[in-house]
Amino acid sequence: MTAQIRARGLVKRYGKVTALAGLDLEVEQGSVLGLLGPNGAGKTTAVRILTTLLEPDEGTAEVAGRDVLTDAAGVRRSIGLSGQNAAVDEHLTGYENLDMIGRLYRLGRKRSRERARELLDRFELVEAGDRPVKTYSGGMRRRLDLAGALVAEPAVLFLDEPTTGLDPRSRNDMWEVIRELVRAGSTVLLTTQYLEEADLLADEIVVIDHGRTIAQGTSDQLKAQLGGERVEVVVPSAADLEPARAVLSALAIGEVTIDEHTRRLTVPVTGGGKVLVDVIGRLEAAGIASLDVGLRRPTLDDVFLTLTGHAAESDAVTEEVA
Ligand code: ADP
Ligand code: MG
Repeated sequence: MTAQIRARGLVKRYGKVTALAGLDLEVEQGSVLGLLGPNGAGKTTAVRILTTLLEPDEGTAEVAGRDVLTDAAGVRRSIGLSGQNAAVDEHLTGYENLDMIGRLYRLGRKRSRERARELLDRFELVEAGDRPVKTYSGGMRRRLDLAGALVAEPAVLFLDEPTTGLDPRSRNDMWEVIRELVRAGSTVLLTTQYLEEADLLADEIVVIDHGRTIAQGTSDQLKAQLGGERVEVVVPSAADLEPARAVLSALAIGEVTIDEHTRRLTVPVTGGGKVLVDVIGRLEAAGIASLDVGLRRPTLDDVFLTLTGHAAESDAVTEEVA
């Protein structure tokens, strides 16, 4: 196995903000790395460095065997980038956008046209292909943007939050498209804020916060580290919280957390539906009423709570002001 992306000790500062604080990454050929982290974690900064759009303050990186600093042109020839803000021309049709990219990559007139039609077909944009992009939905724009990144058949593909802001249906369509790419053997670095997305698409996940890695592994390894599922219990009054905690601690595989405001207890558990029945039984036996009891899978918030002791900061601006 050879690494198609290899980054060592990447550091990037913007004034007082350290966007990357020594990031290491490795992505094997034909695999998908999910770079998972909240807003402001440093995902886009990492992608920009690896795609030669930005120089790191420290560290080195190679993509497709080429150094991002000393052979930026070589790197650019080997990669495709599809970003959060779809880089397509509104006034051109989908077909024209793809054809233009083909010409920019010097595929030649005939091949550019063929490739544009091929990609429209693959991304289910055939019907929309001859309409101006300004008539497209958000999901269609993203698919077109991704198609654009594939025109030159790059060895390595970077997808920066490909589904953020999409409605559930478009997100599902996008996931299907990405899974197809992966099946075809592309090497992909995908950034996301969604554990579910990383779970579904990535072979290996690197969780970052404040520009550094806080966890790494396959989705199964991360989940095991996170401790299975979460039972959430809402009690009728604040006075019930502590007695409920005492009862539920016996079943917990980690710390029980309490949100006093919503009178909600969150209990990390394993065992699925069975444990839910157990929770309800024990609360009843202890004479504690519950307004709501539910079981859910860990979310990115749980990842952060567990790994960092603080909830994911959803707003990068707060951090800069602080
Ligand atoms: P993510 O993509 O994970 O949301 P970014 O890489 O965009 O994170 O940002 C990482 C940090 O760097 C954030 O605190 C962000 O505000 C800051 N940052 C990013 N780009 C700039 C810039 N051009 N100037 C100043 N600060 C920036
Ligand atoms: Mg970003």
